Amino acid sequence: MTALQENFHDPFDHYIRKLPSPDPEIKRKRVNINQGSVSSVTNLTHDTLKLVVKCDADVQPLGGIAGQYATLKVPGVRKPRSYSFAKAPENENPGEHTFFIRLVPGGELSGWLAHGDRTGEPVEISGPLGTFQLDPSNDTMLCIAGGSGMSAVIAIIEHAANLGVARDCYFFYGARTQKDLYCHEEIKAVQDNWNHGNKFEFIPVLSEEPEDSDWDGPRGFVTEHLKNEYLDQGKLGLDGVKAYFCGPPPMIDHGVKVLSEVGLDEKNIYFDKFEDASSPAPVVDNTKCVLCDECLLVKPVPNCLVEATNFRTDGDDSRFYFERVRPAHTSGLYYNSLYIDENECVRCFACVDACPHDAISVTYDKTPKTLRMYK
Ligand SMILES: Cc1cc2nc3c(=O)[nH]c(=O)nc-3n(C[C@H](O)[C@H](O)[C@H](O)COP(=O)(O)OP(=O)(O)OC[C@H]3O[C@@H](n4cnc5c(N)ncnc54)[C@H](O)[C@@H]3O)c2cc1C
Repeated sequence: MTALQENFHDPFDHYIRKLPSPDPEIKRKRVNINQGSVSSVTNLTHDTLKLVVKCDADVQPLGGIAGQYATLKVPGVRKPRSYSFAKAPENENPGEHTFFIRLVPGGELSGWLAHGDRTGEPVEISGPLGTFQLDPSNDTMLCIAGGSGMSAVIAIIEHAANLGVARDCYFFYGARTQKDLYCHEEIKAVQDNWNHGNKFEFIPVLSEEPEDSDWDGPRGFVTEHLKNEYLDQGKLGLDGVKAYFCGPPPMIDHGVKVLSEVGLDEKNIYFDKFEDASSPAPVVDNTKCVLCDECLLVKPVPNCLVEATNFRTDGDDSRFYFERVRPAHTSGLYYNSLYIDENECVRCFACVDACPHDAISVTYDKTPKTLRMYK
């Protein structure tokens, strides 16, 4: 320390010391980043695991509602991955969170989970994230899930059953073969618990079940079955229907198309797409951004979405450059733009959900024309 620093007297020092500590009720983020550990891993099917994570005793509860998700970071895997809560929160043991995880060939996190006994291994869990949830109406629930998309849908229907909602529910589930069906007990429990004055129907549809097997249920693609056997036959009308899709993006895209074509307004269709690392990162269109900070409040990792300034390209060079702004280290003028670093983005899409101004999307142009350029 120099003599100047030693003798320096900060005129605000006295004032700052007298300030009360920050109010713990004021939240500067909506995401808790908790430490926890693997409580158990069990097989649901030949390629899907049930993981239970227990948060450490001294952390704030993660919270969350049925339909939301968290990101999980495990040792040796650089980036976290997103997973939907697979139980209604009120059905969980305190501090525990259940997930259904499909084993992806060559997948880093799912591979880690499947490799040896992971009980007791540390897990960083961040959440709750996302806006997929039970809507408050009394409309018929049309749920369509595929593969591990069972997770968010079972959480939502468990929650609806616990609330005793007076709604009919049709739950279509797409799988390849009988070997891929799971959650029999959980679905039976929902069925038993469902409001007795209303209908609950579970419709598993198999796309690759051998012709000569004992399966006498529906076959084909789940969204085709919904269209051909329910919508076209008039078994299910679309007046007063809310649709919930969860699972692989192609299934959701096809299902949304089917329902839109028969006239279900898109505002009555909710979905949670299980994108992965192969999906493009979202882009911020700073011409639409109003700097409300909603996206910054749901960051599951520190460096995915950053405040930046001085964007520039050099001549014909198509690359561009920017300086990162460290909040609280600026002149105080709020002149910066938001930028998603695709190398740090974990493809959780929480910022897309959080933005109230449609300023973040995977469809926006990646080039810096959406950024405020510094000439
Ligand atoms: C909101 C949300 C909720 C989700 N919920 C669930 C859930 O409940 N259950 C579930 O099983 N999954 C869920 N997912 C998917 C999950 O987050 C992971 O993507 C999935 O488990 C694969 O992770 P992994 O580490 O095993 O595979 P990864 O190692 O991430 O690989 C996944 C795929 O991406 C490819 N890939 C990897 N890196 C790159 C790259 N740099 N460029 C191009 N391609 C690449 C791989 O070849 C592979 O095909 C959810 C995703 C989202 C966004």
